[in-house]
Amino acid sequence: MPTTLDHVLTRRRFLQTIGVAAGASAIDCNPATSSRGGAAVKPTAGARMPVLFVGHGSPMNAIEDNLWSRGFRAIAQLLPQPKAILAISAHWFVPGSRLTSNDHPETIHDFSGFPDELNDMEYPAPGDVELAKRVARLLGPSRARLSDTWGLDHGTWTVLHHLRPAADVPVVQLSIDSEMRAAGHVELGRLLAPLRDEGVLIFASGNVTHNLRFLLDELKANRPLTTPPWATAFDADVARATEQHDTAFLTRLIEADGARQVHPIPDHYFPLLYAAGAAETNDRVSFPITGFDGGSLSMRAVLYG
Ligand code: ZN
Repeated sequence: MPTTLDHVLTRRRFLQTIGVAAGASAIDCNPATSSRGGAAVKPTAGARMPVLFVGHGSPMNAIEDNLWSRGFRAIAQLLPQPKAILAISAHWFVPGSRLTSNDHPETIHDFSGFPDELNDMEYPAPGDVELAKRVARLLGPSRARLSDTWGLDHGTWTVLHHLRPAADVPVVQLSIDSEMRAAGHVELGRLLAPLRDEGVLIFASGNVTHNLRFLLDELKANRPLTTPPWATAFDADVARATEQHDTAFLTRLIEADGARQVHPIPDHYFPLLYAAGAAETNDRVSFPITGFDGGSLSMRAVLYG
């Protein structure tokens, strides 16, 4: 069920994007040199879980060995063993807060024009209805409800394929309420914070900058895919505000003049607000992945804790 322009990227255009991106010197992906000092040391199991936001970018990252997929695999080395994963993906952007309650959530291939290898991929992680009920209680029964109409969309599984290749950890997806303003998403994130002490990894997946119409227009015009100033500035503002745990700034940023150029639809930004809301001000903040794909698409990942 396409919701954004990335579902109508043709394969040809996509490969063109990757071809340019692969050789672009502007890309700065530094999974091995995060502010954790470069050493990938797994925290002790049972410790408070971190909160992770990733830029998922193209679905092709699931099957390609590239900067971003290698970055996702490097992040896996930074995470303790979770009991379960609560995924908040840009691609389940619907009215209300819904939680997948399937015992075996479907792998949703919510894109078109990609190779069979990607269309045939499955991510067979089990669901966790008890976790879904727990999250519904945290968010409030009048707000959240269970649903078996969704599964794991590509914002979730294309990255989890690298974080948890064995698909051996139960996954529940939480929808993003398309009718809620930015501050509300931060508040929902705050309500999710107790899950961190229950072994649940809060995993939010979007992109800090995401204007695929711009990208398609650049491709159509055969212009080089350089990073426009508005993307650089927005990404830098997000980095600064996340480091300072300034959630008020993060909410103002997406509602400010000019934000529509960066996010014509805020679906890929709002996952970050859940992650920021679930973080504590004493959480260490690091950026295991930085840089831009296709010129304008920020692939910044944020790890809290
Ligand atoms: Zn997406």
